[in-house]
Amino acid sequence: MNPFWQERHQRLREQTEAVARAIEHEHDPPKIVRILGQELGQHLERGEVTSLCVIREALAERTALADTLFAMQGLGSQPIRLAGSEELKQRYVMPAALGRKLAAFALTEPEAGSDVASLRTLARRDTSGGHGGGGDSYVLDGEKTFISNAGLADFYVVFAKTDASAGGKGISAFVVDRDAPGLTFEPQTLIADHPMGALTFERCRAAARLGAEGDGLKIALGTLDRFRPTVGAAACGMARRALAETLVRVRTRVQFGKSLAEFQGTQFALADMATELDAARLLVYRAAAACDRGERATLEAAMAKLYATEMAQRVVDQALQLHGGAGLLAGTPTERLYRDVRALRIYEGTSEIQRIVIARELLRSGT
Ligand SMILES: Cc1cc2nc3c(=O)[nH]c(=O)nc-3n(C[C@H](O)[C@H](O)[C@H](O)COP(=O)(O)OP(=O)(O)OC[C@H]3O[C@@H](n4cnc5c(N)ncnc54)[C@H](O)[C@@H]3O)c2cc1C
Repeated sequence: MNPFWQERHQRLREQTEAVARAIEHEHDPPKIVRILGQELGQHLERGEVTSLCVIREALAERTALADTLFAMQGLGSQPIRLAGSEELKQRYVMPAALGRKLAAFALTEPEAGSDVASLRTLARRDTSGGHGGGGDSYVLDGEKTFISNAGLADFYVVFAKTDASAGGKGISAFVVDRDAPGLTFEPQTLIADHPMGALTFERCRAAARLGAEGDGLKIALGTLDRFRPTVGAAACGMARRALAETLVRVRTRVQFGKSLAEFQGTQFALADMATELDAARLLVYRAAAACDRGERATLEAAMAKLYATEMAQRVVDQALQLHGGAGLLAGTPTERLYRDVRALRIYEGTSEIQRIVIARELLRSGT
């Protein structure tokens, strides 16, 4: 068993495997979210990062869509959990965990991707009518892009500037309901089955502010720190599936009078795949354990995300290579994994941004 797991994590893995098998071919996001909420929602509510990693690893092995939807329920509600009032938690966090509301996290903009502090969406205080929550009422103007669950979500956590002259310190976080006047979306289609779109806000009233004005970047980065190990876990799930498919294939495929598994070149490739996968899993669950002990795990989370997502890309590519042409056939697990794995090196901070974070932490601590 994984040294960072307890018995209950092993049981959770088995439970999630059964859920993943049942929804492997389901493509209706609200239905998937409802099932995930019923079966696994209590773990989103509790927020233990190790459990979230166990779940994402097992889901991603079979269905990247269910993994994405599960992750978004967590990512979209974590800012409210971190900085929202009890009333907001009841209104948004609980229903999201139970799969009754779909959540989204809206940070990226057309001109602000890796450089999130340069975002331009503006939030202006509006005294003409108040809503519940933070006590202040705001209207938002601006654009967001690459937002998972755009158009499907019941609510969006949106990051916008309340002080355009203060850089990252001028960013605040808001909740916007799906039916807020002035909110529109355009779908965006990816190579993978991933609900995504761009959002436009035109004098769009937020339902509530989260935390104080200027707390937005801290809330966004605090959320991402907790979820980065889980991206690594999803990557491990995909690599694990790729390796499993490959082990079956190389034992049964015969060329030159031998199974592919008998060639030393194949064996070396398999050995590297398995070793890298295990190394990544240790980094992922080390980072998760640090988060669960309440430690600042910025370094560990960035290392886990960087190594696991890069590893998964290599392992999935090698798996496809060992399948030959059969690995490219549409609808096969290798073909699906090849399309699904690519996004992991980009979202929630690209690999280059993870390297910047790791180097900054090293230079800061001096060790
Ligand atoms: C599948 C998917 C889902 C997503 N979901 C969400 C979501 O739900 N909510 C949300 O807010 N966003 C989401 N995003 C957006 C995602 O977070 C951004 O795509 C990501 O942060 C990178 O920004 P960018 O695409 O603008 O690339 P850019 O920032 O333009 O980067 C382009 C390239 O330049 C590199 N680069 C940038 N700066 C540096 C530097 N200083 N040094 C070295 N290299 C650098 C990057 O690493 C990258 O390789 C999602 C993206 C994808 C692909």
